[in-house]
This record gives sequence, C-alpha cells and structure tokens, in this order.
Amino acid sequence: MSRIASVLLPLPLPEAFDYAEPEGMELQVGDQVAAPLGPNLMRGVVTGLRDGAGHNRPLKAVQARLEEPALPEKTLEFVQWAARYAVDAPGQPLAIALRGARAPKAKPQKLIEPTGVLPGRPTEARLKVLAAAKAGAASAADLARAAGVSAGVVKGLLEEGALAVRTLEPAVRFEAPDPLRAGSKLNDSQAAAAEVLRGLVRDGGFQVALIDGVTGSGKTEVYLEAAAEALAADPTAQVLILLPEIALTQAVIARVAARFGAQPGEWHSDVAPPARRRVWEGVLSGACRIVVGARSALFLPFRNLRLVVVDEEHDSSFKQEEGFIYHARDLAVARGKIEASAVILASATPSLETLRNAETGRYHWLKLSARHGVARLPDIDLIDLRDTPPESGRWLSPPLVAVMGETLSRGEQVLLFLNRRGYAPLVLCRACGERMTAPDTDSWLVEHRYSGRLVCHLTGFSMAKPEACPHCGARDSLVSIGPGVERVEEEARSLFPEARVAVFSSDTVFDAREAKRLIEAMAAGEIDILVATQAAAKGHNFPNLTLVGVVDADLGLRGGDLRAAERTYQLLAQATGRAGRKDRPGRALLQTYAPDHPVMQALAAQDREAFVAAEMGERELAGLPPFGRLAAVVASDVDAARLDAFCREMAEAAPNTPGVEVYGPADAPLSLIRGRRRKRFLVRADRTVDLSAYMAAWRARVRPKGQTRVAIDIDPYSF
Ligand code: ADP
Repeated sequence: MSRIASVLLPLPLPEAFDYAEPEGMELQVGDQVAAPLGPNLMRGVVTGLRDGAGHNRPLKAVQARLEEPALPEKTLEFVQWAARYAVDAPGQPLAIALRGARAPKAKPQKLIEPTGVLPGRPTEARLKVLAAAKAGAASAADLARAAGVSAGVVKGLLEEGALAVRTLEPAVRFEAPDPLRAGSKLNDSQAAAAEVLRGLVRDGGFQVALIDGVTGSGKTEVYLEAAAEALAADPTAQVLILLPEIALTQAVIARVAARFGAQPGEWHSDVAPPARRRVWEGVLSGACRIVVGARSALFLPFRNLRLVVVDEEHDSSFKQEEGFIYHARDLAVARGKIEASAVILASATPSLETLRNAETGRYHWLKLSARHGVARLPDIDLIDLRDTPPESGRWLSPPLVAVMGETLSRGEQVLLFLNRRGYAPLVLCRACGERMTAPDTDSWLVEHRYSGRLVCHLTGFSMAKPEACPHCGARDSLVSIGPGVERVEEEARSLFPEARVAVFSSDTVFDAREAKRLIEAMAAGEIDILVATQAAAKGHNFPNLTLVGVVDADLGLRGGDLRAAERTYQLLAQATGRAGRKDRPGRALLQTYAPDHPVMQALAAQDREAFVAAEMGERELAGLPPFGRLAAVVASDVDAARLDAFCREMAEAAPNTPGVEVYGPADAPLSLIRGRRRKRFLVRADRTVDLSAYMAAWRARVRPKGQTRVAIDIDPYSF
C-alpha cells in the first residue's frame, strides 16, 4: 500500500479513521474526501498522511476527493483546538464546520450538454439523445436512459463532439461589499474608538478589543468601521459578526447591507439548506466576505478571516449547552488567535470575564459612555410590589398601569418585559394540589393558550390541557398559576382595549422572517404595546418606545445559581435600555419584591461600577471565574442505582492535582430529563491549571458502560 490517509469524520468518534489512498489521488492535509463508512459514503477531511509500507491490515480506500477546495488549514486547527478545549471528540466540532456542505458525491458533478456541433449521421436515436440532452444529464447512462437508447449512442456523440461534458463549478456569487462607502458621521467618542479599532485591524495579528458602551451609544456603527477597514485593507479579507439571537441577526444584516451595499452571508439554524450551502461554499471559496450569524457561524471554513465581532458578548445564548458544549465568545477569541486576526467584543454590560481581561490590560478597552445624539439613558424606578401590589389575578401594578396610560396617550410605545414564555408557568389542581409535571422530566408543564397545550420547556414534550385532573379526576379544578407573556398580553388588552398589543417570544415568533416582520412593525409604530421575552428585549432600536415595564424583575434571582445576579443585571439593563433611544426621554419601571437587592439598587442608580466591584470581590474570595476556572461533569443514566455506582467510581478516579478541587456529586440543576437521572460534579481550579487537560485525564480513567453517559462542560454557565 502506498500511503495511508487519516480521515476525520463528522461523528462523535475519539479519533480519525485510516483509509488507503488510491493510486494517483495525491491527497493533501485538509482535502475533503468521500470515505466509505458501513454502506454509506461520508464527507470527511484528511488530517494526516503517512507511508503505508509494512501495514498489513486491509483498509478501505478513500472513494474520491470532493470538488470543493480543501478545508483551510486554520479551520482544521481550530476544530482540533476546540475539541481539546471542550474535552470532546474532534468529529463534533467538525460536524458543525461541515454543516453547510452538500452530501458527498463520489464523483464531481458533471453535466453532458449538446455543443451545437451537428452529428455526422443524424439517426433517429441520435436526434433523440440530442433532444434529451437539452435538459442536461449527469452521466452518459442517465442520458441514454432518458432518450431510450443504448449508451453506445451517447458515447458516439461524445466522440464526435456533438455532446460535451462540463464539470460544474459551484456557482456561488456574492455581491462584493464596498468598504469605501461613507458610514455615519461619528461623534467624538465613537471616532476615537473607531480609530483604535482601525489601527488594530490594519496592524494585523491577534488583538482583542472590548467596546464597552451604554445601550444606544453606537457600538454597531463603530465596529462596522473596523469591518470597513478590514475589507478595504485586503481584497480577500473576510469578516464575521456573531450575534446571540436570530432576531438580532436580521437587524444587523440590514445595517451591514446598507453600509457596504451588499448582502452579507446569513448563518443560523433558520437558514434553509440551499441558502446555507451557498454561504458555506461562498465562505470556503472566499466569495462571501461578510457573514452575520449565530454562534455556529464561528466554525465556518473561512479562507482569510481578518476580524471577528461578538456583539452582546455577555449573552448567555452564546453558550451551547447540548451536544458539543462550548461558549462562542471564548472560542471566538481562540479562533482569532489561530487566524491571527482582530477580535472585537461589544456589550453595554460586559461579562465579568471580559471586564477582568480589560482591567488587566489583556484587551483594549474602548468606552462609549453616552447615547448618540440627544438620546439619553432612561430613568429607572423601582416599584415595590409589597406596597402597591397588582389586583388579585393580575400582574401589572397600579403605578405601572398609570404610566402605561400616560405613555400611550402621548402616542408612544410600551415594552412589557417578562422572560417567561407561554400563559402560565404552572398548572395546579385546586382539589388535590397536584402540580402538572412532565412525565419523564423534572419540570413543571407550562400552559400555552395559543396552542391550548401544556408544554415542557426542557424537552418539548406537550399534551392537550386535560378537562379533569389526571391525579384525582376532579373536573374544572385545574388553575393557571403565575404569568407568562401570553397572560400579560391578555391583561394589557383588557386594560387598554384600544391599544394594538403583540407578543414576541420564541413561541409566537418561530422564524427569522416573522421576527423581522414584528420588529419592523414595532419600529414603524404599528404596535402600541409589545409583550416580550428576552428574544426581543436586546439590541433593537425602536425610536418611539419610551416606556419599558419589567413585570417580574426578581425572576432570574430565584434559584441558587451563583451567576444569577450578573445575569439578571445584564438582562434588565438590556431590556430597560430599549427605552428612549431617540429624541424622546425614556423611562423604565421595575416591579420587584426585593427593592433592596444589590441588583435592583445598581439598576436604579445606574451604577454598574459599584455592582461589578461587589460581584468581582465575591468571585475573587471564592476563587470563581474570572479569578479561577470551573468545569462540570454531568453523569446521567436511566437507572438511579447504576448512576450512583458510576458516580462513586468517578469520585474515586478524580486525579489529585494541586490547585484543583472537586465537589459533588450532587443532583444536577435539572435532575431528570427524558427519563435520565442526572448528577453533577463541579470542579474549581486555579487560573494556572490547564483544566481541559485535567478533565481529559479524569475522563480517561472511567469507562461508562451501557446506558451511562458522561458530558463535560468547561466553564459551565450555571454554577
Ligand atoms: P448600540 O449598538 O451601542 O446599541 P447602535 O449602533 O445601534 O448602538 O446605535 C444606536 C442608534 O443610534 C442607531 O439607530 C444608530 O443608527 C444611531 N447612531 C449611532 N451613532 C450614530 C452616528 N454617529 N450617526 C448617526 N446615527 C447614529
């Protein structure tokens, strides 16, 4: 055998597989190939080649080299780095990187077409073939079948030159962005920030900058300047802009298109496969120079990535919690390092991790402390629900309702923010006290009135709302407890029957087009009251929105999660930041039972520094991120006793390493999902410890058997 190719397949396998390189194929690292796996052909990527002399086990051969260009070396390096970091199989991130690729065909796609040359002998069979060939055919056999003649007839026409074979180039076209078009005229602080960023991009090399700017300060305008610089400096440069929500990608795509006169590539789970393929091929060929997308866009096979922007970098949606577990902000920085490119993180409420990196000088720290133009930050007031509770069965307190009335009467818009989908988070039987829960998951079923169903938000399980209590059989005894956005919508409609009310949550807005439609309707003033979960509460500019009412400001603080304060602060600062973004002053009212809580105090005083300092102090004392590292191991099994036994084995196998502490096992925050019980270990380590290596060593010492599964989560979001 001449050479052996290691081919990485997009599957959760521990390593690449060996295949024989067919004579004359001359593979190179990065080549995309069709490799046989069982009865199928699979797209894989060559990660290594070695001499096959002395190898005596029979190997299957690589079937074909695919027509697409090789995967860029740095993309492959990034995939392998990400797998090591996440302590997972490299095929997992590779699968994300190949998500836009078409199914592998063993042979390059070809088309047989008439050339216009007339055949020497125009027999009936030959004329039939020429007629059939007008529609295009992939092979001589296909064409012969379509014409109802023997393959020899087609062959004869090919030899005579009446037919020709054309290899199909993937015809991927993108409009070329024009970086020289004029952007907005920047104000002084924007111009200063943009100047620094342009310098970083021009210098080349890996650099990270944080744009730390209040909501509405023009962070987007500023990073688009950096993008313009990257595109102008190098005709092959590519720019990636990552956003946490599909709804936000729509707004940024429109701004990019306006700024550069060209549609960027769009990348998220809602993009249909043909469009996805087009972007994937465009990124790989270099034709697509700007991509706006959600977290998985980070794995696209860029040829010459010069700038990565992570907008709303603090956002928890950047954390992927299932399958391949990663944080897109952290991996964006890693990819920037591998590509030797600039990375811009932007936020009005940066994560403590990023702030720490800015404070210690690892990141450039660019501040925009005022809104652009005459817009001012909203006044934020707390409504103490203990003093002024809503009427029974209602959720909006009299002071909030009064200000809503004033706002609407001025012809301005209201956003009611409640981070809870559906109608009610709990349905309970008045007769026996039974709470409706999912059959195989430890969570309450959420009532959805639009669909008339009870839904498990963790697994998607749903059932029709029963007429009688399934536990005691009592009829008409089920009551809905607590509010979700649908219930607040109902209340808003009954309070303000004249107002046009809409709901924005992932249940009512299921795709990017609907999100775009609703956002445009809101921006155009066709909606008076928007009731929204976090899906619509970030990033957007609604010029006539002057009041934000937070229905339950305490919601995120319940539950013992140590990141709860940081996350609640960020979410509420974002939501309240939607108010007053143009010339009319904005106002935000937070309904709370805990007005003295540090988060509420910091929000009302608009004193982020005090909040951050207090929170940093606590993290530092406990050695928690950003002052230490964290990882989690979740073990799960359908059988509780077997899970316990496995956890004991895991606990014993934990390597003893200075600077590393292992806690647990304890019930995971979600202790039963789809019939699987879940236990969790938490690992805290000093910053100097290579935690991924530690976790990999630990993982290698145990062998989960049968139904037992182990997942490792580096830097778990909730702890
Ligand atoms: P951020 O990303 O910080 O929330 P944006 O970039 O979305 O801020 O800007 C907020 C609003 O102000 C947008 O409507 C934007 O077009 C406008 N804006 C910001 N800076 C300028 C500028 N220099 N000239 C004109 N409009 C601006």
